[in-house]
Amino acid sequence: MQFTDLGLAEPILRALAAKKYASPTPIQAQAIPVLLDGKDLCGIAQTGTGKTAAFALPSLDHFARNPKPTPLQGCRMLVLSPTRELAAQIAQSFRDYGRFLKLSVEVVFGGVPINRQIRALGRGVDVVVATPGRLLDLIDQRAFTLKDTEIFVLDEADQMMDMGFIHPLKRIAKLLPKERQNLFFSATMPGEIEALAAQFLNNPVKVSV
Ligand code: AMP
Repeated sequence: MQFTDLGLAEPILRALAAKKYASPTPIQAQAIPVLLDGKDLCGIAQTGTGKTAAFALPSLDHFARNPKPTPLQGCRMLVLSPTRELAAQIAQSFRDYGRFLKLSVEVVFGGVPINRQIRALGRGVDVVVATPGRLLDLIDQRAFTLKDTEIFVLDEADQMMDMGFIHPLKRIAKLLPKERQNLFFSATMPGEIEALAAQFLNNPVKVSV
């Protein structure tokens, strides 16, 4: 299978060609058609399988086909990551794959001054990649809102739980709008992660690699 067989929008195919990616990885081949269909997804996949592109490419396709003004103090897509390193990598992937689209991408995490992040979000952002604690700080300071979020991704859910993010995640779940697409990824799926997934996902398609 080739990326061109998946029906992705032309600017995204151009970005993939520039990266010299010819064919989708197994998680991409399984997840991309489901996500292009607008369905929720629960993916069991480790880092290194290509899961970032598996959620970034169909989301970018949605933005390419449904252009909208960037929401002020909100975002069209939220990706939650357990660590700042992973958050920065995910944001870079969105910038790479979305380089031929007019989209803004911001990454926010704790341990650095919040003022620059408040200013950046105030200008409006299409895709926000965040760690849960700093995201809630920004929301509590009224610098950010989740009300315009169309696509929500929870990445590395098992690591989120290990790091004690369960309460922040439950709060974030309550603040998201009802109408949205949800993507949930974890390397493992024990009972407690399954229960967390159930709080976010609506009739998900399950894929596993
Ligand atoms: P990830 O699992 O998302 O961290 O991706 C692992 C690595 O695989 C990253 O360095 C990606 O740039 C690369 N990658 C993702 N998808 C593909 C693909 N279809 N073909 C070649 N490399 C890829």
